[in-house]
Amino acid sequence: MSPNLYPRRVELPSPDTKLSRRHFLDGWDANGYDALKYSWGLTGVEQDGNFLWVHTFAVILGFCVFSLLVLRFSNMFYKHARHLTVMSNPERQEYWKHNRSQWWPWLNRHVLMAPLHKKKHNATFQISAAIDNGTLPGRWHFAIIVVYAALNVAWCLCLDWSKERMSVAAALRGRSGTLAALNLIPTVLFALRNNPLISILQVSYDDFNLFHRWAARITIAEAIVHTACWLSNTLEGDGAAAVAAGLRDEASYTYGMLATCAFAFLGIQAWSPFRHAFYDTFLGIHRIMVLISFVGLWEHLARHGLPQLPWMYMIFAFYIFEWVARFTWAIYYNFGRKGCQVHVEAMPGEACRVTIKLAREWTPKPGCNVHLYIPRIMGPHSHPFSVAWAYPPSPSSKEHKERSLSQLEGGISPTSPHAIQRTKQISLICRARTGFTRTIYEKACEQPNKSFDAWGFIEGPYGGHHSLDSYGTCLLIAGGVGITHQVMYVKHLLAGAHAGTTATRRILLVWSIPDSESLEWIRPWMDEILRMPSRKKHLRIKLFITKPKGRIESGSSESVKLFAGRPSWKTLIGEEMAHREGAMAVTCCGSGGLSDTVRASVRPFTTEGCVDYIEEAFSY
Ligand SMILES: Cc1cc2nc3c(=O)[nH]c(=O)nc-3n(C[C@H](O)[C@H](O)[C@H](O)COP(=O)(O)OP(=O)(O)OC[C@H]3O[C@@H](n4cnc5c(N)ncnc54)[C@H](O)[C@@H]3O)c2cc1C
Repeated sequence: MSPNLYPRRVELPSPDTKLSRRHFLDGWDANGYDALKYSWGLTGVEQDGNFLWVHTFAVILGFCVFSLLVLRFSNMFYKHARHLTVMSNPERQEYWKHNRSQWWPWLNRHVLMAPLHKKKHNATFQISAAIDNGTLPGRWHFAIIVVYAALNVAWCLCLDWSKERMSVAAALRGRSGTLAALNLIPTVLFALRNNPLISILQVSYDDFNLFHRWAARITIAEAIVHTACWLSNTLEGDGAAAVAAGLRDEASYTYGMLATCAFAFLGIQAWSPFRHAFYDTFLGIHRIMVLISFVGLWEHLARHGLPQLPWMYMIFAFYIFEWVARFTWAIYYNFGRKGCQVHVEAMPGEACRVTIKLAREWTPKPGCNVHLYIPRIMGPHSHPFSVAWAYPPSPSSKEHKERSLSQLEGGISPTSPHAIQRTKQISLICRARTGFTRTIYEKACEQPNKSFDAWGFIEGPYGGHHSLDSYGTCLLIAGGVGITHQVMYVKHLLAGAHAGTTATRRILLVWSIPDSESLEWIRPWMDEILRMPSRKKHLRIKLFITKPKGRIESGSSESVKLFAGRPSWKTLIGEEMAHREGAMAVTCCGSGGLSDTVRASVRPFTTEGCVDYIEEAFSY
């Protein structure tokens, strides 16, 4: 560590320095050095101890990232080995049906995928009927958060308590301030959509967002403790006038107080009921307050030449990287000679199909999502939606001809699921809620042809890290608009099963919807899937209409079945489990309640055979 990076002392002005501008220090002059010595500079602050904890923190974080990487790479290696071995003989997957150890399935069942208590995890945690207080973290996340918070508390308390009270307060001020600045680094990193750790560790943005919120809460608490210690020592040293003078005349303190107030405001404003009730307003105010707090903190550190300043470079670098990445990809993929247009069509079942033509070829992955911008309607805000369908280039297009040639030269058929699948047109399904989604739905309904075009574009793709290619059996569960997350998986896996490029033998798509109108959302894509080769051999579809308006005809097809009412998830998963081939993946995308029920039904099976559960929550 360079000595410049972590100077252990800030030069104190001597009591006889001419400080006519700094009335705060009048108290210093009048009362001698002692009165405010614990409010100014590093007197009482244990810099060595502070940086010992900083280094400990860095080592712990490094160790965690390293362990996660080892775990992730072993898991990826295991799945890749399974994928390769099964591909040579997809009919024989008996070996992969069973767990090869006892500890991993146990850990998976009781820790990694377990809710904190009983089964509630994704369903919102209601304080009362009107107040939605977010969700409860799962057991694994809860353990990480508790350990992380406990370490911060322990480090704050690890002081020499035998010293005089003001000296201890100064030491606590230094410790909490250092930790607050340090915790701001993960707080910002974890909030980025382009956080490189998402793809390296294959931890979802959702999970990072949870840690972002908790790291932020810890930062805010430490910033408040830091400020409170300064206030307490200054009040005790020279009274309220010294506090007022310090905040008025000493710019570093003014900015420090500004940062703490902005942090405290952010903490209150991000409370789940406020956040979810007016998400766009929340995000707009959040960004402004974040900038104010960063500027405040920067000035606070810079004006006193504090050693935590280089961390702010890192934080600003993250922030700038994020916005540059967002703009660059959005401009690159969307803005061409023809401009960027989105086509919005109203659909039955209160939803819109939004189709976007891209300026350049774009590589979609099953399960990925994009942020949609339609500035005329939603201003500067964007909303995340899963990519429900990506249209392959038409056979007459330049891209198709060029790709076919280059892929055939490389020995790959352009229709193979493992050929690079690029697209210049994608569709999203947006269920009408109360904000932007309702506005576009109503606007489309007002048009004579129930559709309109608007200037708009997308940012992304994000997500889509979960590959199901090595599973012999895939059970894809969707509730309502959650189907958008599953359709591309169905197409990819079915194509893979036919071409022999994935381990897929059995795909069961279960879709639970309130009424049959919602079937229209994906009808053209389903028609295409139902025409794919080997479809009858590998794909079955079960549709559950939970609130049918009339009599439901179950139909005669063996592979596509319609039911009235809710499915019994336990029975359904049990049946699939009994007839599984190879390893089995259960993925679920739907309401919080649905995900919780499905998780509770899958958990007991994870110790019975090789079963993985993956969920997408559609909320942050
Ligand atoms: C990864 C992901 C994929 C999604 N895919 C789909 C999809 O394919 N189809 C679909 O219909 N919905 C999808 N959603 C949900 C969709 O983003 C919200 O329904 C939509 O943003 C609501 O907009 P609104 O203004 O009408 O919301 P409101 O009616 O104001 O709020 C409804 C809910 O949406 C959340 N929300 C509002 N704005 C945002 C925002 N800018 N970012 C994140 N959440 C927000 C709020 O927290 C609130 O709980 C997805 C969400 C995520 C996180």
